[in-house]
Amino acid sequence: MTGAESGDGTGGPPPEPEPCPHCGAPVTAVIQLIPSAYHAYPCGCAVRGNLLE
Ligand SMILES: [Zn+2]
Repeated sequence: MTGAESGDGTGGPPPEPEPCPHCGAPVTAVIQLIPSAYHAYPCGCAVRGNLLE
C-alpha cells in the first residue's frame, strides 16, 4: 500500500472524544491502572472500561 494515514482527508468522520461522565472533559483514552478499574485520560476520573467503545 501507499502508507497513507486512514481517516485523514478520506471523507470519514473525525474521531470525537467521548465526554467524561463525571466531569465532562473530553476523554481521549481509557487507561487501566489496576485490574479492577479504569480511568479516563487526561482527566483521571474512574470510568467503565468500554467508555470509548
Ligand atoms: Zn473526568
